[in-house]
Amino acid sequence: MHRWIFANGGSRKLIITIDGPAGAGKSTISKKVAKRLNFLYLDTGAMYRACALFMKECHISLDDEDRVSDALKDLVIEFYQGRVFLNAKDVSRQIRTPEMDKAASQISRIQAVRDKLSLIQKKIASGSDTVAEGRDMGTVVFPDADLKIFLTASPEERARRRQRQLAKQDNIISFDIILQQIKKRDKADIERPIAPLRPAKDAKIIDSSNMTADEVVEEIIKLATR
Ligand code: C5P
Repeated sequence: MHRWIFANGGSRKLIITIDGPAGAGKSTISKKVAKRLNFLYLDTGAMYRACALFMKECHISLDDEDRVSDALKDLVIEFYQGRVFLNAKDVSRQIRTPEMDKAASQISRIQAVRDKLSLIQKKIASGSDTVAEGRDMGTVVFPDADLKIFLTASPEERARRRQRQLAKQDNIISFDIILQQIKKRDKADIERPIAPLRPAKDAKIIDSSNMTADEVVEEIIKLATR
């Protein structure tokens, strides 16, 4: 049994944040870490994706911030057994398309969206020990997290991984196009004024370019336990 090195001083639930750019392996690694530690896995990227899909289904342009903000009151996102539900409909597959990659990145620049999703994220994490994966988990949503990881990898390696992931879903897209999309999304996430992608000051930075997922998981488990 692992013994926690964290001194969280009371009844607050434990939180491990895993932030980083697209394709760094955050989801695979966060899921494995959560499973090993018996923590809840919180995929916050899926929430931005589901939110973007909701706006598409409501025919609301993501450029129309007022309508997007107003529509948020009708948005319900839930997770159940590893699936993502948008207003009670399973959208786990629908949110994993290049179109939703782009739309999620675009909608994530709207403050009202971030406010609503951050609230849900905090609420979920208040109920269980959690591994929270995203872009701003350690910097904005959980600044007092017990362990903060910033997981990165070279853009080329990330594009290769993304291409393999899409191919598994019968989405065959050229490497160059994926690389270009990854660089564009990184730039948008890094340069946005609200909750930009950057490591928290107290985050441990892990470059996974030359590591297997299991090696990264071991490193995180080592940091979390002793
Ligand atoms: O992690 P994933 O690729 O699913 O995230 C999709 C998009 O959602 C990202 O490109 C980013 O713009 C946004 N996002 C965010 N903050 C988070 C998680 C995701 O802005 N915590």
